[in-house]
Amino acid sequence: MEFRLIERIRELTAQPRDDVRIGIGDDAAVLAVPQGQELVVAIDTLVDGVHFPRGTAPVDIGWKALAVNLSDLAAMGATPAWALLALTLPDADPVFVDGFSEGFSRLAQPHRLALVGGDTTRGPLSISVAVHGFVPPGQALTRAGARVGDLVLVTGTLGDAAAGLHALQQPLRDDDHRASLRDFLIARLNRPVPRLAAGAALRGQATACIDISDGLLADLGHICTASGVGVDIEAALLPRSSALLDLYDETSALHFALSGGDDYELCFTVPAQRLAEVQSDLSRIGCGVTKIGRVVEGDSVRVRGTDNAWLTTNDRGWEHFA
Ligand code: ADP
Ligand code: MG
Repeated sequence: MEFRLIERIRELTAQPRDDVRIGIGDDAAVLAVPQGQELVVAIDTLVDGVHFPRGTAPVDIGWKALAVNLSDLAAMGATPAWALLALTLPDADPVFVDGFSEGFSRLAQPHRLALVGGDTTRGPLSISVAVHGFVPPGQALTRAGARVGDLVLVTGTLGDAAAGLHALQQPLRDDDHRASLRDFLIARLNRPVPRLAAGAALRGQATACIDISDGLLADLGHICTASGVGVDIEAALLPRSSALLDLYDETSALHFALSGGDDYELCFTVPAQRLAEVQSDLSRIGCGVTKIGRVVEGDSVRVRGTDNAWLTTNDRGWEHFA
């Protein structure tokens, strides 16, 4: 049974690449790292009911399990190539495996990412994906390079995924218009789009970069710590979708944008003189980008409200343990 499941995964995710010398089927994969490139690797685990709501469709779980990992490569400025998949399933359920593989493959294919191996075990539903990508030597983006005076930017809009999670937990009593806004927010939760093209475009431009998985404040805090700087954010500048602003009041929308997790947008810093170039580079690849603040001396993130007073918040986004 397990063999058939693995066969099914292999068929549904097939992606020929010359640099995969040996893929799924042997004791280990053999991969050829292109000459003159550095290998960038990351792994993330999704646990049922923790990292996605119980009852999430298998196709969405497959997409998201890969997306959150590709987002880590995007934040490093890396181009993805290969993945490993460790799947723990309560039972050998071919319907789950087919849906999962379809979602995984739908995201993998446009990036020519090959699934080269993994492991399949029985237990409470949990998925680990490890991704491997390349970056030119010394050009990986890190959390550590932000300098006082740099500008702070984010891609896309903030808070949609957290609002989507909130919306999922509310009883359904929407008209068609509100239902379509809800669906947009829920899709932002279930089908995050990793900002790979933006990350690659930021190589040699951004001084620091992180992907927003735990919330803007929490993740910007990591840039502060790694770079030894502070950051001042203007609440009025935070990019928020019209769906978020239509369905939620200002207080909730601001909370989601500052502390909500799961957006998988990039947050990065650039020297002020590079702002115009970065904006035009990202707009050329169809990626929205917004300046939200500035790097200052200090060691943490401060948020200035529309009345110019500093916001006090002890909710710095949720940090998960595992
Ligand atoms: P072994 O006992 O040598 O670890 P497995 O039966 O676990 O072998 O795996 C057989 C082959 O199938 C290996 O090449 C492994 O990488 C691959 N594989 C197992 N599970 C998965 C999975 N969930 N996704 C992709 N490849 C898998
Ligand atoms: Mg194994």
